[in-house]
Amino acid sequence: MNCEPFTVNAPSPDRPGESCGVFGIIGPDIDAARMTYFGLFALQHRGQESAGIAVSDGRDITVYKDLGLVAQVFNEPTLAGLPGDLAVGHTRYSTTGSNRWENSQPVFRHFGNNAIALAHNGNLTNTSDLLARLGPLTATTDSELMTEAIAREMENAELTLEDSLATILPTFEGAFTLTVMDQTTLIGVRDPRGFRPLCLGTLGDGWVLASETAALDILGATFVREIAPGEMVVIDHQGIHSQFPFADTHQQLCIFEFVYFARPDSKLLGETVHSTRQEMGRLLARQAPIDADITVPVPESGIPAAQGFAEVSGIPYTDGLVKNRYVGRTFIQPAQEMRERGVRMKLNAMAGIIGGQRVVLVDDSIVRGSTTRQLVGMMREAGATEVHLRISSPPYRWACYYGMDTGDRSTLLASDHTVDEIAAILGVDSIAYLELDSLIRATGAPTNVFCTACLSGDYPTSVPDVGGKFLLESSP
Ligand code: SF4
Repeated sequence: MNCEPFTVNAPSPDRPGESCGVFGIIGPDIDAARMTYFGLFALQHRGQESAGIAVSDGRDITVYKDLGLVAQVFNEPTLAGLPGDLAVGHTRYSTTGSNRWENSQPVFRHFGNNAIALAHNGNLTNTSDLLARLGPLTATTDSELMTEAIAREMENAELTLEDSLATILPTFEGAFTLTVMDQTTLIGVRDPRGFRPLCLGTLGDGWVLASETAALDILGATFVREIAPGEMVVIDHQGIHSQFPFADTHQQLCIFEFVYFARPDSKLLGETVHSTRQEMGRLLARQAPIDADITVPVPESGIPAAQGFAEVSGIPYTDGLVKNRYVGRTFIQPAQEMRERGVRMKLNAMAGIIGGQRVVLVDDSIVRGSTTRQLVGMMREAGATEVHLRISSPPYRWACYYGMDTGDRSTLLASDHTVDEIAAILGVDSIAYLELDSLIRATGAPTNVFCTACLSGDYPTSVPDVGGKFLLESSP
């Protein structure tokens, strides 16, 4: 879902904003709300702003959602008040200026004898067209727009949820991984490009849908397969089947799921994310060798790449930055000055380790650069004699329209600076980014299964012209 209604112009964070987490479960005798709670717990990294669960007892859908972390939103009494064996859940990512209860999910609509609840990960790119086609709607986010469009189809054409989705889904463009439910049916959807992940598992006689395999692991569920791009999987108490309502499908998974978003213990395209990140570090060490004394990761996202870098370079790996695990991700705070203070609260350099050393600092990505600049400053203050920055992905140069909160392109450090200029801005002795070919090679997947638009400018779909800054046609 997008963060500010129908816009990507919100001030950008210093790292890519998370994608949301979606979850769904159905099965005989399953305590669906409690299972969803644990599933969302495993998907907390994908969104810390709000959490919600919709559950059905076969007759009524009950929704409970609020701002905050999963463990803050739910407790024993709230879970006890959510009876049923069918549920969908959502963790919403945090974005500047958007922490409103109204934006929390699942989105719920009740009409006649029907009710639906929808959880969305992604961002539609044709909301203006949809609004023009559908006429006046009360929706203020793309997720609400989808829900209203589905509900309207069910109500006016008297269709089932499945038939309504099969009719309306092809009119949506952009990124939309969904878990949707009515009183008796759970449906999982990936858009025809499969920008965002969704996997299927079994739990006893029941079925589970989750953004990442780690959520299956935490439940003790068995991984079955990834939902295919363009697939709509329909599950009720009678069984499971799939439809493919889109005319053209082609996998273009967000490459940043491998770089940063997904949990290291999740699997994507059959590969464990952690091992691909280590391989990124190995390839980076071969591509951009340096003479230095210690390899220091930016915790936690830079750790596997730093391990791989140290392994190949022979430069010893050491923890030179201590992370306060109880401070949320730095972009949660709404104002820039608070974000910068947040970095200091979150990470501290250990002078006893850094002092007098030539440091290779390894991180996964740079978006705006303000956090990185502060980290380099911390290294200098701690006594580093040299600071060499190694980034396990290419320069982040273009805005994302598929559900990442990167904000306006002009705020991206690499959008209008050369690599040498970036080194000067950040105050490092050298800098190197992993080349795109190597990044893809580290995943073990073919080149053509990824979206790399923010790194390459090759957008897999038409994207909206935002403030006249940016308009690209589809690329194959
Ligand atoms: S533009 Fe970048 S962040 Fe957005 S979906 Fe594509 S690869 Fe992912």
